[in-house]
Order: sequence, then structure tokens, then C-alpha cells
Amino acid sequence: MAANARSAYAGPLFRWPTTIALALAGVAIAGILVRVEGQRMPAGPAIATETRSRSIGYTNRGRLLNSVELEPSDLIRLKNPNANYGTQEMVDLIRWAAREVERHHPGSSLLVGDISRTRGGRLRPHRSHRAGRDADIGFYLTDEEGAPATVPRFVRLARTGKGTTHRDETVYEFDDVRNWAFVSALMGQDAVPVQYIMAIAPLKTRLMEEGRRQNAPQWLLDRVEQAVGPRHTRGRGRRRSYGTHDSHFHIRIYCTGEDRPRCRDQPPFWPWVNYPAAEDDSASRMRRRRSRARRRMRPRRGMRGSSMRR
Ligand SMILES: [Zn+2]
Repeated sequence: MAANARSAYAGPLFRWPTTIALALAGVAIAGILVRVEGQRMPAGPAIATETRSRSIGYTNRGRLLNSVELEPSDLIRLKNPNANYGTQEMVDLIRWAAREVERHHPGSSLLVGDISRTRGGRLRPHRSHRAGRDADIGFYLTDEEGAPATVPRFVRLARTGKGTTHRDETVYEFDDVRNWAFVSALMGQDAVPVQYIMAIAPLKTRLMEEGRRQNAPQWLLDRVEQAVGPRHTRGRGRRRSYGTHDSHFHIRIYCTGEDRPRCRDQPPFWPWVNYPAAEDDSASRMRRRRSRARRRMRPRRGMRGSSMRR
């Protein structure tokens, strides 16, 4: 055997430096790949290039076609089994993020509240959640010993990050490590761009602190700083809140390219999000404005005809 092995390598000597050089190059490339891999953001869920689900309209006026059901699993616990429908992208994103957290924190599962109804539309008591692109997700919690807790309901947390369920005596606390793992996974991927993750300010502060403690890259901290936290509409006069997110995250994703232009987003469009149809949207708004103006010019009968289509 040994003789055979040696004879296999007993070729011309000049091959040896080549072999060694190739091996060294291989090791170097592998080293670079590992380093790049270490810094790279998680890729996000693998989304089929063509999905059947369609999010229609704005999230507070829209609906949902060919919705996808988020099914319960080891990773997913459902709070409301009538409102667990979303776009393909939303459902894939939730599944993927739950797995990302579980990979680093075995035994973790995600408590998912309302997404949308099968066909979207009004879902009480929410204003949005109508188009399959909003999801309420319970915080990861720890118990009084600091151990990961699995609680079957949303727990309202005070500014201290602590709260009770009134069903038991346990004081639960916002789990900085796992919530950071979840939020950073969502904000660190570009497969399904996230517009918001809403949560009350003290929890956002804790997330930012955890991110800095873990030496998260600056670009990721910047994304979290901008897209995570409390939200208010800048209305005329009265400042309207989007609701108090002290017991869960409210996640909203953008319309996908294939759902646009029927699917409609409102600003903001974050600088890191590739949103090529932003111009298309303003163009279609212009078109609508122009056709409305034209309708106003037309005689009554024509007007009735066009309003039927809306
Ligand atoms: Zn919500």
C-alpha cells in the first residue's frame, strides 16, 4: 500500500511545489471565505421567485389573495388560529426568523399573534393587518431565574421590561439576548425587506444596548436604530400612535415587486431597501390623478361607468 501510494506521487519533482502552492492557496481562500461568512448578514428566507399570494392595497385598507397559512410547529405557536394567514413572503420570513433564533438558542419557539384573515380585510381590533404584511409576534421572555420562558400569551411589559400575566405569579422579563437575535435576523436580511418592527421605546433601548454589547456591525445597528421602535403618524394636529407595542412586536414588510403596483406601501423607504418601484408608485399616483381629472370633465354616464370599476 505504502509503496503504491508513494509511486502515485513519484512523478516529476516539479509537481510538488505546484501541489503545495495550490494547497496553500486553497487554505488561504477558505480562510477568507470563513472570515467573510462571519461578517456577512444572514441571507434571509429563500423565497420562490414567483409566489401566488398577492397583497392588495395599503395594510389598513387592503386585502389578501391566495394567502398562505402559517402552521403551528415546534418553532411556531399560534395565538389566534383564525388570523394566521399572510403573503408567502411574510409566512416564510416568520418561519425563517424563528429557526434562526432556535439555531442559537435551542428550545426557543415563537408566539405568533395576528397576521391577517384568509382573505385579509378588516381584523378587529387592528387598524392594519388587512393585507398579509403585518404580524404581531410575542417577545421572547425570561422567568425570574433568567431562564428562557415559554408563555402561551402576550405579556405586557412595563418600562422596566418586566410584567406579569395575571394568570400566575411569575414576573417575566424581556429577554435581551433572544429578542436581539430575532430582531437582528429580521433587520440583517434583504430577502424580505422589513419596514418596521414596532415596540415601546425602553425595549428598543435594550435591543440597541444588546447589539452594541455583542459588537454588532454598525450597518446593522443603524438599521435597528431607524426601523425598530415606537411609531407615530405625523397627522395634522393630533399625533396618532400606531398602538402601544408593549406586549409584542408588530412587524410590517414592504410590498414585493410582483405584488406591486396593486400592493401599496407608505413611506418611509429606508436607504438600504432596494425599492425600484418607488418612482412607479408616484407615476401611477400621477396617472390616477390625471384620470380622475379627466373623469370630472366627462359627462355623467361615463363617470358612472368608471366608478363601477373601482
Ligand atoms: Zn399589530
